[in-house]
Amino acid sequence: MRLILDLGSGSLRSLARLGENFFDLTAVGVTHRHQDHVADLLPLLFGLRNSPGASRREPLTIFGYRGIQHDLECLAHVYGSWVLEPGFGVDVQELPPGKRLRLCGPGSTLEVQAFSVRHSPEAVAFRLQLPATFDETSAGAPLPQAVFAYSGDSGVSSSLVELAAGADLFVCECAFPDGAGVEGHLTPSELLPLSAASGARRVVATHFYPEWDTRGVEAEWERALRRFEGDVALTPAHDGLRMDVGPPRQRG
Ligand SMILES: [Zn+2]
Ligand SMILES: [Zn+2]
Repeated sequence: MRLILDLGSGSLRSLARLGENFFDLTAVGVTHRHQDHVADLLPLLFGLRNSPGASRREPLTIFGYRGIQHDLECLAHVYGSWVLEPGFGVDVQELPPGKRLRLCGPGSTLEVQAFSVRHSPEAVAFRLQLPATFDETSAGAPLPQAVFAYSGDSGVSSSLVELAAGADLFVCECAFPDGAGVEGHLTPSELLPLSAASGARRVVATHFYPEWDTRGVEAEWERALRRFEGDVALTPAHDGLRMDVGPPRQRG
């Protein structure tokens, strides 16, 4: 199964540069309607329909914030019915906070749960969980699940601790460095205690606004981690960063 969470402007170009094709996507998740999270959704649908040799027949699931169905209908009104009828099924699933969705794709299934965040009114975060599996070593008991948590955009909120509770990988926004914070986004001194409280095994900080550039992302994170007294395994993101979510923790 392949999926994308949030498609800001330039996402498709970045995927192509990284050698990742988007033709066999199972699903796209969109946390909120800000353009840096949704701008390439329409080009994706256009590309799946119109790229040379495009022959997709498998349905595409688009899950996201409450209102995404209406937004896509508006886009179809402007650009044409192909937006929701591109020649393959488009299954739109709205996921307000608390709602769960089971995604089935080639080789695996995933459960997605939406969490509320402190950002725009419709914004949500996603927690993705591999469903319980069984094998000959598990003696009938389910093996541990691998959990991936993704914040989308959010200011400080206890729901982020719940979102990332025990996650194997927590990808969280940290739009501004300390001293330059903006309501509805996080700074390192806000993200680090949330991450420690969640017990997430690894954390990737991302969504760096230009305010980071003058200080240097790596240097600023080194300073923030030195100042922080808790224990968080954090990596600042960069374009093209690849990480495995699992393997799931061993039962002990
Ligand atoms: Zn936003
Ligand atoms: Zn954003």
